[in-house]
Amino acid sequence: MKAEIITIGTELLLGEQVDTNSVYIAQQLARIGVDLYYKTTVGDNRGRIAEALRLALGRCDVVITTGGLGPTADDVTREAVADVAGRPLVLVPALLTHIESLFQRWGRPMTENNRRQAYVPEGALIIENPVGTAPAFAVDLPQGTIICLPGVPREMKYLMEERVLPYLREKMGGRTQVIKSLILRTCGLGESQVGEQIEDLMQCANPTVGTAAHAGQTDVRITVKADSEEEADRLLEEMAARVRERLGDAIYGTGSETVEEVVVRLLTQAGRRLALLETNTGGALAARLRSVPQAEQVLALAEVLADAETVAARFGGGEEAPWSSPSAAVRAAQELLARSGADLALALVGSMEPGGDPYTARQGVTQVALATPQDVAWQTHHFGGTGELTQRWVGTRALDQVRRYLLSVLRSQGLPKPA
Ligand code: ATP
Ligand code: MG
Repeated sequence: MKAEIITIGTELLLGEQVDTNSVYIAQQLARIGVDLYYKTTVGDNRGRIAEALRLALGRCDVVITTGGLGPTADDVTREAVADVAGRPLVLVPALLTHIESLFQRWGRPMTENNRRQAYVPEGALIIENPVGTAPAFAVDLPQGTIICLPGVPREMKYLMEERVLPYLREKMGGRTQVIKSLILRTCGLGESQVGEQIEDLMQCANPTVGTAAHAGQTDVRITVKADSEEEADRLLEEMAARVRERLGDAIYGTGSETVEEVVVRLLTQAGRRLALLETNTGGALAARLRSVPQAEQVLALAEVLADAETVAARFGGGEEAPWSSPSAAVRAAQELLARSGADLALALVGSMEPGGDPYTARQGVTQVALATPQDVAWQTHHFGGTGELTQRWVGTRALDQVRRYLLSVLRSQGLPKPA
């Protein structure tokens, strides 16, 4: 079953109201395996709503609309549906009684325009709305089915779950399926590198495999359609195993897991404590770690120094700008390791240009050094400055450096590989 969602409301087009309804409906449709092919947004305009409906019916089996069922003159969804169906709007006495009884209960006079809500296109299936005044309805046409829900998120959600999903299940003759996704989170590889390594898997039709880039990390999303949850999980796991084969340790977690959560977990598991020194990231990395419960147990010390020059003055470094070579970061990490008594020390020493970020000309540099009792390793990132994107990007890459080190520690200890 192919579906399209049409969200109706000029406020949505003006950007005044975020369209959350279609997000919710999309999630619900996935639960029963309805293929959502399009989402359309249209203003409170009868002609354009009708046009959107005709287009949707031409390419999908079911069209679900939200909004525009209210009592005022700018709520014209029911008129537009009637136009498309070629049927008149008819009064449904039971609906009128429902609306009248609500107003009686509230002790408010019912205005004439409230009667509008008791009209539906002739032959429509009424979807009673016990949580609001605007009734919902469905119209079966030779081209497909139109289901109209109110715009108020609370009402829409109730009706979607309690009425529309059972209705669609029945329409599908009980042959519902499930659409499920699994996200593998990777770090350290760019989106294009990830894409290249799983290019052939990305051609598969079911499950489908896609990528999404974030600052310093890339997600691999696997989506499957199957007859049951169990079948879906099995197919997702099979594909995930193939992706894992290709990307290995670049995959740091699944679902909504963050790198900082994984690092805190690995530190705990390995019984290690981390010390941290930041410059251009201004404490953003420490804040990310501290957002994870249990961080206090594994974070031995977190310092912020004003800039790379301060780091060089305190710990020594090369002749040139302290961030142009890793030496200042390396010395800072070694000194921090000794002073803090931690098991590993991470120093981020970067240039400070305020506008610096990965996409401006003044991109800058951040040197990241990780000192351990055995040795010190460093990475040079060609992103510097104090911009939010740099802080995110460099922070994620630095956490990834710690993560990969901890993985090697855990493996050498013969501990089971963490999930
Ligand atoms: P009712 O008559 O019960 O108020 P309605 O069908 O006329 O419902 P609208 O008047 O279009 O709905 O919208 C009602 C409320 O729901 C408004 O506050 C609107 O901003 C919000 N809303 C409408 N569409 C959406 C959407 N797609 N996502 C989130 N909120 C929405
Ligand atoms: Mg509206």
